[in-house]
Amino acid sequence: MTPTIPATRETIEANCIPEPNTGCWLWTGHVNPQGYGRFGTRHKAHRVSFEVHNGPIPAGHHICHRCDQPGCVNPEHLFAGTRADNMRDASRKGRFYGQGRPERNPQAKLTPTAAAFIRANYIRGHVEFGGRALAKTYGVSPAAISTVVRGKSWDTGLRLATLNGVRK
Ligand SMILES: [Zn+2]
Repeated sequence: MTPTIPATRETIEANCIPEPNTGCWLWTGHVNPQGYGRFGTRHKAHRVSFEVHNGPIPAGHHICHRCDQPGCVNPEHLFAGTRADNMRDASRKGRFYGQGRPERNPQAKLTPTAAAFIRANYIRGHVEFGGRALAKTYGVSPAAISTVVRGKSWDTGLRLATLNGVRK
């Protein structure tokens, strides 16, 4: 059967190198095509790191990266998020329209998916889901976030162009 690697702080630390600028602990073992470190054959290294430092992952939670570095296993860069947090991460990665992808509005900075996510998850003044935080996350102005939240039609190219014009 699969040999079991003991999941300890020591084995985590032995398999990563600190990145001096970001403080990330970059996994030096196997990395999957999405960039996540693999611990043994069945586990993701960042999840193992979270558990050995913080205890079991709460049911239904994903382990997310504050640093956006999938190969990072620094427990200080990891947090247990809900499915919504994870979706935000995914939609953030897809926030720009891909090159060569025919879209009605090439200037769009927020995809309709991102806009839908913002509308569904905005919490006024929240440290992660408030307007300011979301603006930073998505790289748009707080005004753009607030317009999205107020439910202005996000699907019209005109509205997108106007909003994205706000950003300098
Ligand atoms: Zn990191």
